[in-house]
Amino acid sequence: MNLPEKFSDRLKTILGDTYGEFEKALQTESPVSIRLNPAKPFKPAFALNDPVPWSSWGYYLENRPVFTLDPAFHAGAYYVQEASSMIIEHIIKNHTPAGRPLRVLDLCAAPGGKTTLLASLLSENDLLVANEVIKSRVSILKENLLKWGFPNVITVNQDPETFADLEGFFDIVLVDAPCSGEGMFRKTPDAVNEWSEENVLICSARQKRILSAAAMLVAPDGLLVYSTCTYNAPENQENAHWLTRTLDFEPVEIEVPEAWGIVKGNPGLQFFPHRVKGEGFYVAAFRNKSRDERYVKGKPNIPRLPRRQAELLARWIRPEAYGSFEYFLKNDGVIIAIKQSLLNETGSVLRALQKRSSGLELGHFKGNDFIPSHALALSGLVSEEVQRIDLPERDALLYLKKEAFELPEHRNGWALATYENLALGWVKIIVERTNNYLPTEWRIRMKLEE
Ligand code: SAM
Repeated sequence: MNLPEKFSDRLKTILGDTYGEFEKALQTESPVSIRLNPAKPFKPAFALNDPVPWSSWGYYLENRPVFTLDPAFHAGAYYVQEASSMIIEHIIKNHTPAGRPLRVLDLCAAPGGKTTLLASLLSENDLLVANEVIKSRVSILKENLLKWGFPNVITVNQDPETFADLEGFFDIVLVDAPCSGEGMFRKTPDAVNEWSEENVLICSARQKRILSAAAMLVAPDGLLVYSTCTYNAPENQENAHWLTRTLDFEPVEIEVPEAWGIVKGNPGLQFFPHRVKGEGFYVAAFRNKSRDERYVKGKPNIPRLPRRQAELLARWIRPEAYGSFEYFLKNDGVIIAIKQSLLNETGSVLRALQKRSSGLELGHFKGNDFIPSHALALSGLVSEEVQRIDLPERDALLYLKKEAFELPEHRNGWALATYENLALGWVKIIVERTNNYLPTEWRIRMKLEE
């Protein structure tokens, strides 16, 4: 890999004598790491004996398996995530503002790596809002969140500046900012060609704009977490200092054991590939010092699901979960579920963002027939009363390819296709045929080995 000369000069200034080790690390293979979904325990096909030190659920794998051909991957049992980013867990666990429930915003969320990590850290009464400004990236975000199965997440597609109505609303705001990508040079070598000193400055200015929109949204005493995958000061420390100088925020001291190899970034933490098993990364956290009132507006302005349909819906949802949600009917006939304890919070978000957002979609009615959604299948909320057909690996892959597979013993009607107890999606079995309800755009296109 040929590094831009000006980039190398900058890194030599930062790293001094250890620059040679840094350059050598960039010539090695990127480590492969995954993070397990604690809500979807399973028996993995690969060994998990090399944990990521700063993560409860992260593991390095010896080789890169073909994830596409693992049904558990499609079921949301794990996420393939670069290890350094998993440090967000350590920060949230140690610095979450006191008091629950939490309202959490991931402002630059696609494809959803850190959003799924946040979801694993939240409890069933916390609310998570995942925003991605670039429309074409929203579908992958939605797909990953749907597979992860956390019910209290709203996905939105907005510019950070349009969140202004939610001033002071969130206890935690994560800004995983678009950046010059220096830390990804090893993993995505194309980033090297796009690097320039000018681009670093453009990124730094854009990050300031995003940070100032984000800072407004943080509740008094709330936490703002800022991260990039770069090493340079304009995008990292200079933006951190700008934030504390111009807005009412103070840096949070993040303690990490020395053995982890992470460098203190003044403020924040810096990850270098020759010191940690992971890519380049920067993260800092700040606390909002202001004491203003926090914001709540009110219930969702969407009609409730009529009682008759709510009764029919009940048999699809685990009884212990059914009563903890309220059910609403959107204009397009789709039913959404909102945690009862989060009605006001969710309502505030839906109102403020003019409904350009979606929560947990359960399905829709055609007459008296309920057509369940894929999100319901993967949510972990499906009642035990609903028929399951458990598929061996090859049939699970054929299901995920939307090709013919052997049906195990079954009754006619709707069934949840599962693999090792992990939900994969719906089928509707009619006497002469089986309809596969896996969303077509998510099917596996790769050829299976004979
Ligand atoms: N958090 C993600 C994860 O862990 O998977 C990665 C986020 S990536 C580093 C930055 C994201 O910011 C991209 O999805 C990008 O589309 C989005 N973005 C680009 N320009 C933006 C802007 N002006 N405001 C907010 N987000 C922006």
